Amino acid sequence: MKIGAHVSSSGGIDKAIDRAEDIQAEAVQLFITPPQGWAKTNHSDESIGSFRSKAEVANIGPVFFHGIYLINLATDNKTNLEKSIDSLVYYMNFAKRLGAQGVIFHTGSHKGAGLDAVFDQIVDSFNKVLDKSPSEGVSLCIENNAGHGNQIGSNFDELGEIISAVGDDRLNVCLDTCHLLASGYDIRDKKSLDKVMLQFDEKIGIQRLVAVHANDAKSDLGSNLDRHENIGDGFIGMDGWETIVSHESFREVPFFLEVPGIKGRTGPDLENVLRLKTIRDRLDI
Ligand SMILES: [Zn+2]
Repeated sequence: MKIGAHVSSSGGIDKAIDRAEDIQAEAVQLFITPPQGWAKTNHSDESIGSFRSKAEVANIGPVFFHGIYLINLATDNKTNLEKSIDSLVYYMNFAKRLGAQGVIFHTGSHKGAGLDAVFDQIVDSFNKVLDKSPSEGVSLCIENNAGHGNQIGSNFDELGEIISAVGDDRLNVCLDTCHLLASGYDIRDKKSLDKVMLQFDEKIGIQRLVAVHANDAKSDLGSNLDRHENIGDGFIGMDGWETIVSHESFREVPFFLEVPGIKGRTGPDLENVLRLKTIRDRLDI
């Protein structure tokens, strides 16, 4: 497995590769537009070329994008629904241009209406995005949620129902380890993790697992709180990471750190990357 990280792309997308190299990340996740807004960034051919050549020289990949925070495919606001679909279409097509493998995002919140009330709209929205996306090579990846509020996709039943209703090979899943623990999936010992991944396979299909967000958790099992912690310092703990890194389900899946950072919340850093690499090297994976 590749040990990667979410890195900033400020100052130009190719800077993301420099930052990944600085922390010895082997794969990279980035935003291609400011995540708090709808505005699109006009990336020059030059910065795209520079990104691709730097990534090749440094042997960094795969590359995934994280969608903007405003996306909500379950919203009752038609304008925002259109903007959400449009943003994902933009990200999916830019992924093809940059050589990225996928776009990871949260489906959104039904704001109390219940999944049934918004189910058809969500499926229809996924189909609209996929209709205007590259026909192959780029995955649209739903990320599991911690289960707070009325977010969609905090359990494998919901994810599986949506994915099978859409019925497209390009619709895949990114599992966030912090969100798994927070939403009640114990992944810290082999027996429990086996059970969780068996469930994933039954309800979603293990071939659809294309990325992992590797985050420890500040809150315990079932807390429903989305609070990331540095590797080994949270409720997953070093023994839990050993279980996760050694599990066969994740062997071919890239890991992306989205941790706060050891020194002063600077985001994924060398120390966190090394903590995972040390386990991987010790287990000889
Ligand atoms: Zn995540």
